[in-house]
Amino acid sequence: MNKKQLLIFPILASVVVSCKKDTLVEVVDVPATPIVAVEQKGGKPSELKAAEGAFQLYELPFEYRSLEPYFDGATMEFHYSKHLLPYVNALNKVVVGTKYEVLELEPILKNLNFSDADVRNNAGAVYNHNFFFEGIAPKAGGEPEGELLDAINRDFGSFGEFVRQFSETSVRLNGSGWTWLMSDKYGRLRIITTPNNDAPQMKGLGITGTPLLNLDMWEHAYYLKFQNKKREYANTFFSVVNWDKVEQRYGAFSKSAAPAYQEPSATGTETPATTETAAPVEKPKPVDGSEE
Ligand code: MN
Repeated sequence: MNKKQLLIFPILASVVVSCKKDTLVEVVDVPATPIVAVEQKGGKPSELKAAEGAFQLYELPFEYRSLEPYFDGATMEFHYSKHLLPYVNALNKVVVGTKYEVLELEPILKNLNFSDADVRNNAGAVYNHNFFFEGIAPKAGGEPEGELLDAINRDFGSFGEFVRQFSETSVRLNGSGWTWLMSDKYGRLRIITTPNNDAPQMKGLGITGTPLLNLDMWEHAYYLKFQNKKREYANTFFSVVNWDKVEQRYGAFSKSAAPAYQEPSATGTETPATTETAAPVEKPKPVDGSEE
């Protein structure tokens, strides 16, 4: 949209509104926001590069408009260029001279000291956004297949019920944060949230398992198009989920993980193939060396 169109658009909008007034019993006050704010700059993801440093900007493999009509081009452009890019640049700065400088992104999360608040925020943001953008794609959505679908049916009852729970959890998240589909080491699935830019792998959060899918529940991710309609945003997300990628994550994980968990049978003869069984509690040894 060029500048002229931007000027014309509010005028047209107000004409439309004033025409409608004739037929409305109540005059609805249409908020004057954010016609201009949603202008898409018309740039390309490939034009952007992170400032010099250890971390590069994730290369978005599609154009900003490619997810329309579900996720709009303007939101995608703002999200990628005005949120992810600055986070990458900030991360490149805050790791300089720290123990994190030589680490990849995920090891940073796993070795994170929460007193390093800037690293926590920026490393989390970059990891979470990369994961998010990788998890959405044009001509995607629908339902997963194979063992991921089997696991969803087993652990949520049905795909529809999984979507409902994921959206509901997202809507209920207070403040800014992220919704995640996680797998435990047996391939069992659950939905969690993390606040702010925390990633599930961060040492100190006490979250186990591996992430398969995430949804950005910061306002910048949805407000231009969906305003306060978080549920609509969360539901629309499922029209752009890149299930091929999520299946790939689940497959890669389950191949490296312990044998699949099996529910104990009705006769109770089967037990999970686990190496995580709690060790028998040992009696503390007397410290003074005396015998009991
Ligand atoms: Mn975001």
